[in-house]
Amino acid sequence: MFCQNCGKEIDDNAVICVHCGCEVKQSNKNKREWLITLLLCLFLGGLGAHRFYTGYIGIGIVQLFTLGGCGIWTLIDLISILCKKFQTEDGQDLV
Ligand SMILES: [Zn+2]
Repeated sequence: MFCQNCGKEIDDNAVICVHCGCEVKQSNKNKREWLITLLLCLFLGGLGAHRFYTGYIGIGIVQLFTLGGCGIWTLIDLISILCKKFQTEDGQDLV
């Protein structure tokens, strides 16, 4: 990624730019893509894959063992993803 202040290339995980010393805003940190979440839910929803992807590890494990709540839970999740109501575990919208 690039520093927003001086434009020089810096490490993706950098907190402070080594060139100008400014704090780097991690704008893409913890962002989850809507399309990937949708595809995971469609094809691996019964295994809770979309839940793991969006940070709901506990719910993901429950869905894994219940096969997505016999598919009903996965279906509800799928609808909320399609309606763009689904959020990541830390309350962010999917991008
Ligand atoms: Zn910089």
